[in-house]
Amino acid sequence: MGKGTAQEVVLGFDLGGTRIKMGLVERSGRVHAFRSVPTGSAEGREHLLATLRQACAAAETEAAGHGLRLIGVGIGTAGFVDAEGRVAYATENLPGWTGTELRRELEAASGLPAAALNDVHAMALGEAWLGAPASLGLQNFVCVALGTGIGGCLIQGGAVFGGRDGHAGGFGHQIVMQDGGIPCGCGLSGCWESYASVNALKRLIAERMPGGFPADAARSGGADAPEAVSDGARAEDVDSGSGSPLPIDARPTDTPGSLGGIADVSDAYDPRRLFAAARAGHPAALKIVDEYASRVAVGLVNLVHTLNAGDFVIGGAIAAQGEFLLSRIAEHTERRIMPVYRGAGIRLHAASLGEQAGVVGAACALLRRV
Ligand SMILES: [Zn+2]
Repeated sequence: MGKGTAQEVVLGFDLGGTRIKMGLVERSGRVHAFRSVPTGSAEGREHLLATLRQACAAAETEAAGHGLRLIGVGIGTAGFVDAEGRVAYATENLPGWTGTELRRELEAASGLPAAALNDVHAMALGEAWLGAPASLGLQNFVCVALGTGIGGCLIQGGAVFGGRDGHAGGFGHQIVMQDGGIPCGCGLSGCWESYASVNALKRLIAERMPGGFPADAARSGGADAPEAVSDGARAEDVDSGSGSPLPIDARPTDTPGSLGGIADVSDAYDPRRLFAAARAGHPAALKIVDEYASRVAVGLVNLVHTLNAGDFVIGGAIAAQGEFLLSRIAEHTERRIMPVYRGAGIRLHAASLGEQAGVVGAACALLRRV
């Protein structure tokens, strides 16, 4: 195919603490050559940049092989990214990443325009473009990613609302417990994410059900179910390799009870086991799911009161629990908000792009500039 007629594509990256996902994204949103590689963050910044440069170098040829023409690069990365595409701050999950001139590095590596933004912002943009909110025609919504921590993004008029420095969306660090709160990785304590993240849910399971839940409760969740929830991965860290999120309607076929030779006791706190048991009607599991839903709702209530938000897109691997979980969160939220904020109702939608959301969102960020 000649250059003139080739479809234009953007190389999209989604850089998380454990995996880097990438793919070639057409203007239509169609994704080619989607894959993920280990981040290898322990090897440091130069290793990370080398991985990105290598992918940039290979992308043009790869695109041509598909009859496509590469026109730019977009990246969503864990950490805070300023308007210049510089990593303003990244946690120890990406050692040395703070201060990286990410947009410029990618432009130098590719010789093409590049865009860099926060990973949850990218995910929200991807959802706004092609995901659940797009199919509902939503231009305004709040995205909440429940993972190791809690990431967030406010989409206003179809675009990311960045605030003064581009860092809006740190909902996970709204303080929900002033005294005696659980310490948070951000240095404060009592942050919402310490109560409502997937890691917090694992802790809750350990507290309420010291033996955890048996393996057969989760096994029927599908042999190809990703490890994302058990790893406490953020949305951008999901590495299923299969492209499919956790099955929404997974139901156990066995009665929970047999321990099934659990080797690692921490598996017993795998939220997938909790949800499988709850779906099977296990009373203790249902109680924990309800308590977790209530904790998630606390943060949403604050957001409703702050933003007068009506629609929430819930991402992260846990979103794949679908209505089973979301309806419970919605119920707790509705019950607590001031009546004047109820309006046409508070709606929770499960993010629908799964592991590709960040890649297409990052590509979208670049496509909006070229
Ligand atoms: Zn915090």
